[in-house]
Amino acid sequence: MNIFNFLFYNFLPNNCLICGRTLKNNNICSHCEISLKPKFNINRCKLCYKPINNKYEDECLYCQQYDIPIRYIRYIMEYKELCSIFIKQMKYSSSRKLLDFGSDLLVTNYKKYFGNDFHDIIIPAYSSKKSLEERGFLHTYFLAKNVYKYIKGYKNDVILAEYTDFPDNYKRRAHLPLKLRLRYSKININLRKNDIINKKILFIDDMITTGSSALNLLFELKAYGFKSFDIYTLGVSKDFYSNFEQSLEVYNKKMLKFYSKYND
Ligand SMILES: [Zn+2]
Ligand SMILES: [Zn+2]
Repeated sequence: MNIFNFLFYNFLPNNCLICGRTLKNNNICSHCEISLKPKFNINRCKLCYKPINNKYEDECLYCQQYDIPIRYIRYIMEYKELCSIFIKQMKYSSSRKLLDFGSDLLVTNYKKYFGNDFHDIIIPAYSSKKSLEERGFLHTYFLAKNVYKYIKGYKNDVILAEYTDFPDNYKRRAHLPLKLRLRYSKININLRKNDIINKKILFIDDMITTGSSALNLLFELKAYGFKSFDIYTLGVSKDFYSNFEQSLEVYNKKMLKFYSKYND
């Protein structure tokens, strides 16, 4: 390495990949690292994780009144300020370092949220074709993969679900423009009924906004006899809980319709 390159790589300041502050080394500043950590000092519903005022209650009023088809919902932080910048940067810059930072947050806090009762199947959220077109890669798969590797250290038979036709499919059709590649790809999951029966499923996404992508997947898996279904994300949107109640209404109607047809 010549002296110019040496000076260039060692003394030129970097910028924090999240907030843009100038840094000497590292890629993420200590301010961001400290701010983007979960706060455990809030009293929350043990099922849906909604903050609740009454510290003597375990569950929020909604979860006390209704049966929700999801066992636990857990997330690292509120989607505002730094968190929203971080998640957008992670999704759209496709920086490996930010993806690692995000998956580290999920991994290091896993036990605090779920204890030693490790999941059997990890399923990353799928993206709409539109957002795949924008980004060209499934970032949730990277997040899920690191959680999967972590669990595998404790539980050898854990499964990471993959979408069989995407993204591999569009590598195979690399000669086609992305729009066509996506049109040809059906999003299928590589799980068989026997993989799912009596298993604990963990659904991983960057954000939870309405809960509808998890509920859609749950609807697809309804006949497979799994044991439980949990959601784990980096961020939660401000309106999540009111959105989620509406998504649950849609889900329940779909289920009713499905089973009434089934019984005819
Ligand atoms: Zn920063
Ligand atoms: Zn609740």
